[in-house]
Amino acid sequence: MVSGNRHTGKTTDGPTPRVPGSRTHLHAPARRLGNPGFAAMQAFIYTTLPARVVFGQGTLARVGDEVRRLGGGRALVLSTPQQIGEARALAERLGPLAAGVFAEAAMHTPTDVTERGLARVRELGADCLVALGGGSTTGLGKAIALRTDLPQVVIPTTYAGSEATPILGETEDGRKTTLRSPKVLPEVIVYDVDLTLTLPAKLSVTSGINAIAHAVEALYAEEANPVVSMLAEAGIAALARALPRIAADPRDREARSDALYGAWACGTCLGSVGMALHHKLCHVLGGSFDLPHAETHTVVLPHAAAYNAPAASGAMACVAKVLGTSADGAAQGLFDLARDLGAPTSLREIGMPEDGLDRAADLAAASPYWNPRPIGRTAVRALLQAAYDGSPPRVSSLPAFPTETAHA
Ligand code: NAD
Repeated sequence: MVSGNRHTGKTTDGPTPRVPGSRTHLHAPARRLGNPGFAAMQAFIYTTLPARVVFGQGTLARVGDEVRRLGGGRALVLSTPQQIGEARALAERLGPLAAGVFAEAAMHTPTDVTERGLARVRELGADCLVALGGGSTTGLGKAIALRTDLPQVVIPTTYAGSEATPILGETEDGRKTTLRSPKVLPEVIVYDVDLTLTLPAKLSVTSGINAIAHAVEALYAEEANPVVSMLAEAGIAALARALPRIAADPRDREARSDALYGAWACGTCLGSVGMALHHKLCHVLGGSFDLPHAETHTVVLPHAAAYNAPAASGAMACVAKVLGTSADGAAQGLFDLARDLGAPTSLREIGMPEDGLDRAADLAAASPYWNPRPIGRTAVRALLQAAYDGSPPRVSSLPAFPTETAHA
């Protein structure tokens, strides 16, 4: 779902559009920093996004202070219908600081929901947004902020990472577009580990792997840089440690804390650098075939990693090291992580129609965008078939540099 002109542009495609012929990429700068045996640090550009992060347990109690800090006095609390109970309890806790609750957030931020939210903002005279929930609720807050400039406090309860990005994906008439704007970047993130204890084990695993996907693509991103690479490595490590423990006991606070930290780190990667083939494929599959977001990321990631491995050896070595696999085993390690934790491993089981694979390959190969390895339609079609079947990812099963017309 990630996409768009790096600053303000709109697009219907996944990752940031790129000019064909961008530089070839093999980047593992964080390793070079700590190892005097390596050559000098590569040149890089790093832009930091403004962020205030309040992280801990019981931090929900600090939301009122954060609303006041932003100059708010009438906050509209947002949630999905499923989390309306938590949203109402928060509004009650905020007392006179809360103007009301709007609990209609839905996946992929439909614009008709945003319109109703805007009407509620006007009706209540709200001067601040408090989004309590996963990426869907964060998306609604961002969509309202885009149109009103209201400040946002986001309280994430999944590992999707949207709270740390200036990216917004919206759907209108079944069409998903994505934009990047500083107007949608939340002013404050309040991470309260306690709120994640209720996230079902299955969704915790897929949401956690969704976060890992941001970090994997950040490691080989066109704008990869040492700061983001350090965060990516730390984020993957925290989630890979935590997810097996959460799958075994969803109320394990220590593991939940590790996972939420990892989600912040991976979300920050997503907000800082452009994504590539993996996010593009997930955007196509989610936007055109209505597949579930976190599950789609979980299934596609090992295959996208295998596809890119021949052109991103430094990034893959980093992932392999963190997952504890052999140096060339990153993609398989990602596949095993999902399978061992009972997550879906095939597009078939999450509702993809097999006769849609050709169209998905056409869409993914249609517009030029940056990827470490050239994107060829035939190779992407083969990748999608493997993901559909749930076959283990095979780095060698695809030609390293397809001879067909490709976009780099
Ligand atoms: P979600 O927000 O749709 O949540 C899934 C379900 O889980 C919802 O019913 C929700 O109410 C429930 N839930 C959430 N937290 C819970 C908890 N702690 N306990 C019990 N139930 C809980 O799912 P998501 O995967 O977090 O978000 C997906 C959406 O976020 C997609 O629309 C995706 O495009 C978007 N997203 C955007 C970005 C970005 O940077 N713009 C990044 C990642 C995801």
